[in-house]
Amino acid sequence: MLARLLATGGHDTSSEQWTVLVIDAPEHVNAMVTPHRVMVVFSGLFRIATSEAELAAVLSHELGHYIADHASEQQSNRYTLWLFLAGLLAYTALHRAWLAMGTLFTLGGGALELWADKPLQRQHEIEADLTGMLLMADACYDPRAMAMWWKKLMALTTSPQEPEFVSTHPPVSLAWLAVARDDDGC
Ligand SMILES: [Zn+2]
Repeated sequence: MLARLLATGGHDTSSEQWTVLVIDAPEHVNAMVTPHRVMVVFSGLFRIATSEAELAAVLSHELGHYIADHASEQQSNRYTLWLFLAGLLAYTALHRAWLAMGTLFTLGGGALELWADKPLQRQHEIEADLTGMLLMADACYDPRAMAMWWKKLMALTTSPQEPEFVSTHPPVSLAWLAVARDDDGC
């Protein structure tokens, strides 16, 4: 399935070696991809994903993160934020504004992440969904399964055992996920 998805969209995989790790952990409904081409799938996904297309939606979403190199972007964003915070701390130290410095030190990291890290994460989730749906359509999986997958997860979030996938991949609005299937060539 991964090879089928990767072979689409003009993505050159000829020189890429991928490793797929399936971890036997039925309580974990999650998947992740590393920048070094390791796709990790937790077996809890197989409890929730009831069709091949839904599983393809999960893998496509992860490939969307990989193709857009979100890991590097988030790391560089965090680095910039912390540099900014370090600058503010230095400024308060220079002016002996110890109270302001203490407040910055205590609240700064969390505030900056809320202000800039979260919106970036949301944007990345949208990009991963969009890229994922394009990969699915090219690989002849029904891209509407992406929306089905999110709907299913969001319905489960009211239960005490919220799927882990939702916390590590915050869902975005489902409205724009309404897509028409392109059957050309499938
Ligand atoms: Zn995600």
